[in-house]
Amino acid sequence: MVRILPISDPGTLDAAIEVLRRGEPVAIPTETVYGLAADATDPAAITSIYEAKGRPRFNPLIAHVANIEMARAHVTFSPLAERLAEAFWPGPLTLVLPLKETGKIHPLATAGLGTAAVRMPEGFARELIAEFGRPLAAPSANRSGRISPTTAQHVADDLGDRISLVLDGGNCRIGVESTILALNDGRLRLLRPGGVPVEAIEEAVGMAIERPGKQSGGGPVIAPGMLASHYAPDAQLRLNATEARPGEAIIRFGGTPLAGEDQAKSVMDLSPSCDLREAAANLFDLLKRADATGATGIAVAPVPGHGLGEAINDRLNRAAAPRN
Ligand code: AMP
Ligand code: MG
Repeated sequence: MVRILPISDPGTLDAAIEVLRRGEPVAIPTETVYGLAADATDPAAITSIYEAKGRPRFNPLIAHVANIEMARAHVTFSPLAERLAEAFWPGPLTLVLPLKETGKIHPLATAGLGTAAVRMPEGFARELIAEFGRPLAAPSANRSGRISPTTAQHVADDLGDRISLVLDGGNCRIGVESTILALNDGRLRLLRPGGVPVEAIEEAVGMAIERPGKQSGGGPVIAPGMLASHYAPDAQLRLNATEARPGEAIIRFGGTPLAGEDQAKSVMDLSPSCDLREAAANLFDLLKRADATGATGIAVAPVPGHGLGEAINDRLNRAAAPRN
C-alpha cells in the first residue's frame, strides 16, 4: 500500500529521507508537477525510477539541486548559465550544462551524455534535497507517456501499486513542467517550453532563444526523449476546436462557449478569465477529468501561444499526437 504523507506533517521530511537513503524513489510535490525522486548519484536508485515509470532508458532525467553550490559540484556554469540561474532559480527553468569530470551524477541519469539537465525547485522539494545532501533525479511521477500529475491523488492513481511513498503538497502552483534550455557556445536553444515563458528569459538576458524544431522546418525537436506522443489520455484529442461534436468532453478557454456544447458529455474551462497561468495550472487535471468522463473524444478550444501558452500548446500537441 502506498503511503500518502502531507508535507506539513512534522515527520514527513524524515520519512522521505529514510526511503531515499534506502535507494528507493519518493513522489514529491514541486512547483511544476509531482516528481518521482531518487538519488541522482546512485545507479540502483535511478534504475528504480525508470522501472516504476516504465520509462525508456535513453530518455535522461533532470537532476534537482538545493543550491547553486550543489549544482556546481557536478556541472560547469558559463557566465551566461550563472546569469540564468541567478535570474530564475529557484524556479521552473532547467539548464543543460557540461558535466564535470569530478561530478557524481550517474550516467544512468544522463543517458551517458556529456551534459546534465539541472534545476533548483522551490519550496519543500528544495528543503528535502538540502536535507538529503545530494541531487535528486526526478522526472514527472506518472507512468511513461501518460499525463503528468499535479496532485498527490493523481500520483497515487497512476503509480500507487509501484511506489511506497507519496508526499502531498496540494496542487502544483505552475502545473506544467520546467522550461529546458541548452547552452552551447554562448547560444541558447529551447529544448522544451515550460513554466518560465521564453519571452521572460529573452528579456532577462537580452538574447534571442533558438527553437531548433521550428527552425528546421517545424519537424520534431531533436533532443533525447522529446517523444512526440506523450501526456496521452485514453480519449482522442481534437485541438483548436470551435464547435462541439455530440458526446465529446469539451475543454474551453476564456469562458467562450463552443457551438453545440449542449450535446457534449461535459464542459470545463481552463481559465474563464483568459489567464494563461491559471490555464497551465489546470491543464493536466482537466485532461484527466475529461478522460475520466469516458468520452471517446476530447475537444479543446484554441489557447493563445504567447507566454505560458507556448508550453500549454506543446503539451496539447503531444497529447494529441498519434500513438506508437
Ligand atoms: P522529464 O524528466 O520527463 O521532465 O524530462 C526531462 C527531459 O529533459 C527529457 O525528456 C530530456 O529530453 C531532457 N534532458 C535531460 N537531460 C538532458 C541532456 N543532458 N541533454 C538534453 N536534454 C536533456
Ligand atoms: Mg514527464
